[in-house]
Amino acid sequence: FRDVHVSLRTAAGDSWWSLSARPLLDDRGVVVGWRGVATDITDKHVAHRQLSWLANNDSLTGLVNRHQFRELLHGLLHGGSTVPSFAVICFDLDGFKQINDNRGHAAGDVLLSTFGQRLMSMARRTDTVARLGGDEFAMVLRGVATVHEVRGLLDRLLDELSEPCDVYGQAELLRVSIGVAMAPTDGRDYDTLLNHADLAMYDAKQNGGNRYCFFHTALGDNNRRRSALAQALRGAIERGEFRLEYQPQVSTVDEQLCGFEALLRWRHEEYGDVSPSEFVPIAESIGLMRDLGDWVLERACEDAAGWPIPLTVSINVSATQLTAPGFVGRVDAAAAKLDPGMVELEVTESALIDDADAAVSALKQLRALGFRTALDDFGTGYSALGYLRRFPFDTLKIDRSFVRDLSRDGEAQVLVETILAMARALRMRTIAEGVEHLIEAEMLTLRGCAALQGYLVSRPIAPDHVADFVTMWSGIPGSRLRETALVD
Ligand code: C2E
Ligand code: CA
Ligand code: CA
Repeated sequence: FRDVHVSLRTAAGDSWWSLSARPLLDDRGVVVGWRGVATDITDKHVAHRQLSWLANNDSLTGLVNRHQFRELLHGLLHGGSTVPSFAVICFDLDGFKQINDNRGHAAGDVLLSTFGQRLMSMARRTDTVARLGGDEFAMVLRGVATVHEVRGLLDRLLDELSEPCDVYGQAELLRVSIGVAMAPTDGRDYDTLLNHADLAMYDAKQNGGNRYCFFHTALGDNNRRRSALAQALRGAIERGEFRLEYQPQVSTVDEQLCGFEALLRWRHEEYGDVSPSEFVPIAESIGLMRDLGDWVLERACEDAAGWPIPLTVSINVSATQLTAPGFVGRVDAAAAKLDPGMVELEVTESALIDDADAAVSALKQLRALGFRTALDDFGTGYSALGYLRRFPFDTLKIDRSFVRDLSRDGEAQVLVETILAMARALRMRTIAEGVEHLIEAEMLTLRGCAALQGYLVSRPIAPDHVADFVTMWSGIPGSRLRETALVD
């Protein structure tokens, strides 16, 4: 025999020997003994055990690593004839990067190992806790069949985590986003389960973090649709899949048309008409909005130059577009045939949040060239008032949500009155969007709103119909706005 490993307990402690030997035979061929060598392999054995520990565990936290986690889950999923019920939980620390960047890696390591310890302390003997890498952790809870059992544990964990963690004498809060997928309902293989727990974790993060979310199918569908649309958007400009529609805006004082807002439309041969509320954010995230925005700009200015009478054209400008280098120059070039005072650029508050300095600087340059600016969806954000101090827009667009609630909700009335009073004080023009009913138009007019946009006036129309619409326009049917308008 060769290389038989045996363990020996000796006075000096445990040791390992490797034995190799050949039989000693007498004249008749009978085994009478063995002759060979015994090698002390204790050092090698210890080193080997350490290596395999390192291969399967994370050295910082001592937890199982991604490789071993996968193996364990694989065993659990494919070990028997049926998939047992258990929960897979993904954890991602909130704001870890900031702490790591601001306080250094050593501080980050303390947070990671503290988190690992707290997770470990919650786990039962049959559960597995793993660090998958960076600030990502995962856990498998065996033998749980209902979300109820998982909730109990996660509530206790969040409670436990609310205790600040001491990092070199300074208290830091451990906040974590948690996503849960249940086997076998949410998946029967490693990749699906982990992916679904991850999607739920992102949902938790998007909802502010420091909370848990369970996977549900809509999360997966949304995600699949999002990536499919992102794929379909590439090359859509070249394939001519976009067009514009125009929605009229009417002045309350005389019910005359004062302008049109250009609204982008996308029709894909497989997905049909996709709403800009859905595809614009996707186009932003894949870096397509700059080109697409330029396309809108050029088209809308060209269309407006052909209108029978000069009317304002309102163009939506997205965040990345506004702060892209050369944007102001491109607006100027696109609007060469128009009076810049008849071109209004609409930005939402969110366009101002990420890079307020760049946004404000672009807006100021546009204003200096004579273009008009509008703050879109006013009232839906948190800090619009702060931006109004930094940059006074020409126009405030009162969000559709206020208009909708106007006729049934006293609070909405007070808010609209406040917005209108403030706009007057700051000398900004106001326009209300999403006006569908005469009663809303009357209430807005009575309170001094300058212009209206919405289905009451017209749905967005095709570019070819704008000229006819302009010539046929004779006021809102059945309205007495002209009698109620506040003229100041
Ligand atoms: P938005 O700028 O607030 O546009 C107004 C939205 O309200 C439009 O939806 C319009 O069709 C809809 N609407 C108009 N009147 C009424 C009404 O009386 N009732 C109701 N319920 N809705 C009304 P749409 O066209 O789906 O656009 C959605 C959003 O997509 C826009 O909101 C804007 O944020 C974005 N968007 C549209 N076109 C562009 C574009 O060219 N560039 C950029 N960056 N964003 C665009
Ligand atoms: Ca708009
Ligand atoms: Ca709006």
